[in-house]
Amino acid sequence: MTSSRREQLFALADNAKGFMPQPEGLALFEHGLAAGQRHPAGTWLEIGSWCGKSALYLGAAAEEMSCVLYSLDHHHGSEENQAGWEHFDASLVDPVDGRLNTLPTWQRTVANAELESTVIGLVGFSTVVATHFSQPLDLLFIDGGHGHDVAWADYQHWSPKVVAGGLLLIHDVFEDPHDGGRPPYEIYLAARESDFRDVAAKGSLRVLERR
Ligand code: SAH
Ligand code: MG
Repeated sequence: MTSSRREQLFALADNAKGFMPQPEGLALFEHGLAAGQRHPAGTWLEIGSWCGKSALYLGAAAEEMSCVLYSLDHHHGSEENQAGWEHFDASLVDPVDGRLNTLPTWQRTVANAELESTVIGLVGFSTVVATHFSQPLDLLFIDGGHGHDVAWADYQHWSPKVVAGGLLLIHDVFEDPHDGGRPPYEIYLAARESDFRDVAAKGSLRVLERR
């Protein structure tokens, strides 16, 4: 891949709607490259697509390493994305049914980036998809719902699918309760107490590797 392709994808990611600060996005890219070097043509999955911002950072690495990134979301937003909450965006409401729908924006983001052969959308509830998904994962990125039950369900359903030597990345991990909600931090601690070890941290992103 030429460096101009990287630059193109980073610029598109920077401009995409979403919740991934650039330094953490670039860390996703770097650790994606590392996962791809360990296992080229591997299978990756992110929980929490939203409008495709993190998918572009990870997708840039996946494309270079001939990997595939499944990007999973029901596309109706988390609690904090709904009307009246902190991260509500009225432009993402479907006028037909009045519900939030990020799928059209996600599709445009991935298509504009010409990543449609690398980033594959999975539309549905995380736990339902997990129950019917048996492919081992070389990289798993958890950035879905941050409520207690949802975050724990994501961790319990998906982290066992990570292969030995594979990476588990978790977003919005805040040690200090003043900085953010507890559940992502709790599942990060649980991962460390099971068979994952710390590899790196950037902002609220934590990177772990399965022993
Ligand atoms: N990674 C994104 C941000 C994700 S926001 C970025 O880079 O901008 C969290 C997303 O998780 C929301 O789009 C929401 O719809 C999704 N989500 C929350 N709970 C979910 C569940 N149980 N199953 C599938 N998706 C879920
Ligand atoms: Mg996040």
